[in-house]
Formats: sequence, structure tokens, C-alpha cells
Amino acid sequence: MSAEVIYGSELAQSLRDEMKEEVNGLRNKGIIPGLTVVLIGEDPASKSYVRGKQKASDYVGVDSELIELPESTTQEELLSLIDTLNNKDSVHGILVQLPLPAQIDEEVIIEAISPEKDVDGFHPISIGRMMTGKDTFYPCTPYGIIQMMKSKNISLEGKHAVVLGRSNIVGKPVGQLLLSENATVTYCHSRTKNMEQYIASADILIVAVGKAHFLNGDHIKEGAIVIDVGVNRIEDGSLTGDVDFDSAKEKASYITPVPKGVGPMTITMLMHNTIKSAKKTNGLL
Ligand code: NAP
Repeated sequence: MSAEVIYGSELAQSLRDEMKEEVNGLRNKGIIPGLTVVLIGEDPASKSYVRGKQKASDYVGVDSELIELPESTTQEELLSLIDTLNNKDSVHGILVQLPLPAQIDEEVIIEAISPEKDVDGFHPISIGRMMTGKDTFYPCTPYGIIQMMKSKNISLEGKHAVVLGRSNIVGKPVGQLLLSENATVTYCHSRTKNMEQYIASADILIVAVGKAHFLNGDHIKEGAIVIDVGVNRIEDGSLTGDVDFDSAKEKASYITPVPKGVGPMTITMLMHNTIKSAKKTNGLL
């Protein structure tokens, strides 16, 4: 078998085209979705992610503002800025780019953002709402992954989904969303014993470990769906995923590439959440 490749980049483009039209309609009603991104310090990867978010905002018509602060910014200064943004009507989404400098506690910052503007979906209230099946902002990467599978009409119900990785931003929430879709979910992590046995029984494999080519085709079940979340820079400077694409492709029925896979969908879901927030604020949802 040779898997069908799910290009997140293509789905992202068509969703962004739809969003562009929707935002046009909102703007005609005087509603301008607004996203404020806060970037602290000079981390090149963070700068590149922020550029991608601004590009997507410009494309779909979201008003995006970038606030750049020095590496020396204190927690109090950042909290004060968040307070201002929480109370600013033109701002529908607030995103503080992670990671933060050591003097700032990430959890304190995440919890300071109003859950009604938490377009990253990282606030404990957003996560609690997601877990209890209430309307909320879903974390962008997990939400994008579900959309990618749905775009191929892949039924998730009753499937055994194995999630490799249990971070708060990818592993845990993607498992939760799969559970909401009636999949049976197993989490594997660095302390999991005999991980191969779980991998071998997976109908769906979500790989979010952060290690280049962590998973190859050896233990994958014939026909499995393989979603590669990893983004790893290797020695030659290029980006590669957590999955050895060539060997996994021979066993899988569907597989996502890196780049052009999950990454573009993450940013697209951020746009979705920002537009949703603007609509909610204006009583359209
Ligand atoms: P993370 O916070 O570092 O979490 C990695 C997870 O992998 C942890 O749960 C860890 O287990 C587990 N793990 C590490 N080594 C393992 C091993 N040998 N066997 C089994 N499990 C192992 O990473 P993350 O933030 O979830 O990100 C994961 C990857 O996705 C990274 O490459 C990141 O760059 C990428 N990413 C991509 C996007 C996108 O939009 N494309 C978005 C976010 C992240 P423990 O919990 O036991 O330590």
C-alpha cells in the first residue's frame, strides 16, 4: 500500500479563501476581527511563527497587531499589557507567543488572558470547556488535525487512536478531541513500556514527540492513518517531522507530510478562532 498524502497546505488555502469571504461580509457589517500577537525577545523560530500568523491574518482580512517587547520584559509588565488588551473592544483574540523568557511564568500569563479572547485555546477554562463538550476555542494544532482527517471523510468513530506525546498544547487536547469524535484513545509518552504494541494496534497514529523520524514504518499497522505533528530542524537546515515519511507511507492509508502538513492548518485554525470570537462578541453566534 502507498498512502494518500493529506496536504494541510491545500486544505488551509481553501479554508482561508472561505474565511476571506466571510470576513469581507463581516467588514461590510462594520465588524473587523482583531488579533493581537505579543512577541517577547528575539527567538528566530518564534519570529518566524509570528510572521506566518500575520501573513494569514492579512490574507483573510483579520486586523492583526504585533506588539514586540524586549527579552527583559517583566511578568508585571506583560500582565498589565494583557489587562489592557482584555479590555480593548477591537481585540477579539490575544496570543502571547511561547516560549517566554525565564522570568515570566507561562501558566500565569495563559491564565491572565480572558477566556473569551483565548484564541490559542490554552486557558484552563477553555480546556475544561473542551473536556466537558461545551462550546469554546479549541487549541489550534489539535483542531487542525481533526479538520484534516474530516476533509478526507475519514470516520473516527470506534477507531483506536494512539497519541504519541502528552503535551498540553498537542498530545492531551488532540486525544480529547478524538474522544469527542468517539475514537478510543491511548496516550503514549516517555515512560510508556512496550510502545510498539500500542503503535501496532493503532488505526490512527498522532505523532507529537519532537524527535526527528521517531516513528518509522516497522510497527505501523497496514492501512493506519498517520498524522505527523513534529517539526524538527535537522543538520542540513531543513525541517522534518517525527515520522520517517518514506517507510511509513508504504504501510499507511493516509499520511501527512512535513512541511505542508499540520503546520499550515494550525495557523488557519487560529484565524478560525479569531473570526469566531469576533462573531460571538457581536452576537452573531
Ligand atoms: P513537548 O512538549 O516537548 O512534548 C513531547 C512529548 O513527547 C512529551 O509528552 C514526551 O513525554 C513525549 N516523548 C518524548 N520522548 C519520547 C519517547 N522517547 N517516547 C515516547 N514519548 C516521548 O512537545 P510538543 O509541544 O507537544 O510538540 C511536539 C512536536 O510537535 C514538536 O516537534 C513541535 O515542534 C511540534 N509542533 C508542531 C506544531 C505545528 O503546528 N505543526 C504545533 C505544536 C508543536 P513526557 O511527557 O513523558 O516527557
